[in-house]
Amino acid sequence: MRIAVCPGSFDPITKGHLDIIKRASKLFDNVIVVVLQNTAKKYTFSVEERVHFIEESTADIANVSVDSYDGLLMDFCKMKGAVAVVKGLRAVTDFEYEFQMSLINKQLNPEIETVFINTAQEYMFLSSSVVREVASFGGDVSQFVPEQISTEITERFIKEG
Ligand code: ADP
Repeated sequence: MRIAVCPGSFDPITKGHLDIIKRASKLFDNVIVVVLQNTAKKYTFSVEERVHFIEESTADIANVSVDSYDGLLMDFCKMKGAVAVVKGLRAVTDFEYEFQMSLINKQLNPEIETVFINTAQEYMFLSSSVVREVASFGGDVSQFVPEQISTEITERFIKEG
């Protein structure tokens, strides 16, 4: 059984994330999407909300499960018996940070590989921050987030004012 972990903050999950998760689910037997908590970072959505949005968005993919973790990614991977970490790459800007992270993770656990999957062209400029920005001004985010959660995201921002 080859297990891969897809880590991120997913604040919230976008169509770009979902595309990477779907493609990873075809390469591995099981994919665990994990919402990582970075104590130094402020998030718009709670861990529970972010996990819920990912669960809704991936409900139709049988070999994908969702979890959250507030420790080291490599410890999570070891605990789950994962062989790889899957990351999406949008542009050169992602590359430098991800390249550094993958080398650090390799140092922490040489058994686990980092696999990079290129963004689909149409999602190249899509990020969670774009979604938050558009939604906070009452804009339509349906083209940016999985359709299952589009209404919930919009309502959440209306409620917050
Ligand atoms: P963000 O950068 O949007 O806050 P995360 O920290 O949740 O995203 O990122 C998790 C992973 O998803 C990272 O590897 C990131 O490069 C990747 N990713 C984010 N958006 C996209 C996209 N539109 N296409 C491909 N990969 C993406």
